[in-house]
Amino acid sequence: MKILETRNLSKFFDGLKALNGVNIEVDKRTLTLIIGPNGSGKSTFINTICGFYKPDGGKVYFEGKDVTGLPPNKIYEHGIVRTFQTPQPLKKLTVLENLLVAERHVGENVLNALRYGKWLGQEEELVEKAFRILEFLKIDHLWDRESYKLSGGQLKLVEVGRALMTNPKLIVMDEPIAGVAPALAHDIFRTFIDLTNKEITFLIVEHRLDIVMSYVDYVYVMANGRVISQGKPEEVMNDPKVVEVYMGGG
Ligand code: ADP
Ligand code: MG
Repeated sequence: MKILETRNLSKFFDGLKALNGVNIEVDKRTLTLIIGPNGSGKSTFINTICGFYKPDGGKVYFEGKDVTGLPPNKIYEHGIVRTFQTPQPLKKLTVLENLLVAERHVGENVLNALRYGKWLGQEEELVEKAFRILEFLKIDHLWDRESYKLSGGQLKLVEVGRALMTNPKLIVMDEPIAGVAPALAHDIFRTFIDLTNKEITFLIVEHRLDIVMSYVDYVYVMANGRVISQGKPEEVMNDPKVVEVYMGGG
């Protein structure tokens, strides 16, 4: 069953067709990958789905509902969360605090409670939820470490943890394992597979095909703002059109 669908999605920047009629479908509980050369429109696609860019044409449907052009907070309320690199101010917080602030509204109260030792039931529940997620991600032993002390891969897991705190249906990620050592990169994708068994769906842009191809269910290949190939990983990797865009530099 599909959870996300775009029809003819388009986004123009001063006449540049960054997205030129993109049709993508993402099935529930799968990991869908978008690849393509630099400048092919992958990040623009993600940003348009998540409400950061308003499309110039086409439609976005989530769980069958038209969510085209909604602002990011509304998209988020539908259950789509896009991960971001941890910004500098959050790096001063511990791993646990990073997860707690991801819960909007209540996050700040919980942080205050942690600092001043005042507890309310709801806050305790939230801390328990954060610990369950940290255990699942196998970084619970790092709970009180300041985030700037983490390795690149551990920080990525914290970013996933922040996303999970929001009870997402679809997690959207732009290059989640960029700069992560191969062993941890594999661990991260194995964790994504475990999460698909818990009703979570992934839409991921990633360059490191050597690592990710064995984990993904379906692949879209973009070039010049269009989808030029799609299918199972092995189908796409054997498609002469795909070989051509990668070898021919776009
Ligand atoms: P990718 O993520 O596949 O490398 P992008 O989606 O970042 O590609 O970019 C697609 C095209 O749109 C590029 O030519 C890029 O320069 C252009 N572009 C992306 N974002 C903007 C923007 N905010 N303003 C103007 N042009 C942009
Ligand atoms: Mg990009």
